[in-house]
Amino acid sequence: MYVLNQFVKMIIGNNGILLYNRLNNAVLDLNEEQGIELKRILENVNIKVNKTNLLDTLLENEWIKYSESIVGNGNINLFSLNQVQFSDFKLSKVIIELSVGCMLDCFFCNEDEEEIYTSCTCKKWNKKEDINVSYNDIVSQILQYNVDKIMVVGGDVFFDAFDKLRNLMLSLKENFYNGEIVIVTNGTCIDKKQIKFLQLFPNVRLNIILFGDDEKTYFGVTNVKNAYKRVKKNIISLKKNNIRVNGTYLINNHNMYKKPYDLMKMDIDIGIKYVYNEKYTNRELLLNYKGRIMSNDAITTEALEDINCCLFRQIFISSDLKTYPCPNMREFVLGDLKKEMLFEIFSRDEYKKFWYLSKSKIEGCKECKYRTCCFDCRAIEYSVLKNLYGEYYCNNVK
Ligand code: SF4
Ligand code: SF4
Ligand code: SF4
Repeated sequence: MYVLNQFVKMIIGNNGILLYNRLNNAVLDLNEEQGIELKRILENVNIKVNKTNLLDTLLENEWIKYSESIVGNGNINLFSLNQVQFSDFKLSKVIIELSVGCMLDCFFCNEDEEEIYTSCTCKKWNKKEDINVSYNDIVSQILQYNVDKIMVVGGDVFFDAFDKLRNLMLSLKENFYNGEIVIVTNGTCIDKKQIKFLQLFPNVRLNIILFGDDEKTYFGVTNVKNAYKRVKKNIISLKKNNIRVNGTYLINNHNMYKKPYDLMKMDIDIGIKYVYNEKYTNRELLLNYKGRIMSNDAITTEALEDINCCLFRQIFISSDLKTYPCPNMREFVLGDLKKEMLFEIFSRDEYKKFWYLSKSKIEGCKECKYRTCCFDCRAIEYSVLKNLYGEYYCNNVK
């Protein structure tokens, strides 16, 4: 009889089957028809040696083998992740909001609305709560959780919160934090003094949110004259001063059909995000699931059966020191650092609902073969359906 090799992980969906080789991280994506054939092969019923020679492929590449006995075979979990990988409590990412103001006026960014327009970038909020926060205490609390990455978001910290940024970063340095610090900014307001300060931190990277690569497109999105000129000049200056920079190009109906050639010439790594609203971006782009499929190794795949690929081990601290699972899920307050310590927030276990919100628990995704390799931004999905367990932006949802 034919059995799966022990080092092969099988993810069965109603749209086919994915096979993962835990030893060499190879992946085999079988369509619906091939999936049915594989099931037949493994059940040893009515095996058809069809045109595609699936049986040969599976045997040649050691996805399956022939065995006289079923004992000791099958889809055994060789890596017990709950015990090996995820036993100790730690934080992978802490996102800290230092500003809610911005000098740009992007047409989709309304400070009076909580509507989410994309996965985590920057957003203005009509919350001018001016708290004189010292981040020393917060930093010592979060560093107890062995955090890998700290992400600073706004508004734009270089516009109206540089003192807070300085306080936070110096405090991280004093506490010997050597993980990565990523600052999300629109890049229009960075001056020479700020660049000089950033040079003290080899572990800092600026993620610049980009809206086009010419003045006209930039103005169409941001409603501010000369914005592109300022961003370009600042990127050149940051690079010249050896500060790491990457970009996130935010696609919307003003820049959708134009590749950012001028920005690409600047040799910075540019990722892409869509403005998630059918009013502002092409519907087909938003529904196309292919762009969000990640190339995972088998261990990550194993883990993603149980956890959310983004929210797991993440916490967000807003500018008024409330804590949430993410910057764009402000209906779900986990706690308030003005009144309590981080360990008290974690002791309530409410965070677990988000950390363990895997695609296997999502309606429309739990039967999909891509559920363990498909990037999930719960905030965007929740903002449309108001259902934590729903999926709207995918043309593969059945
Ligand atoms: S769910 Fe993740 S990707 Fe989406 S907005 Fe929140 S932190 Fe960002
Ligand atoms: S740069 Fe960011 S925060 Fe500023 S208006 Fe545009 S989207 Fe909003
Ligand atoms: S969003 Fe859901 S249904 Fe769509 S590809 Fe991802 S896992 Fe599959």
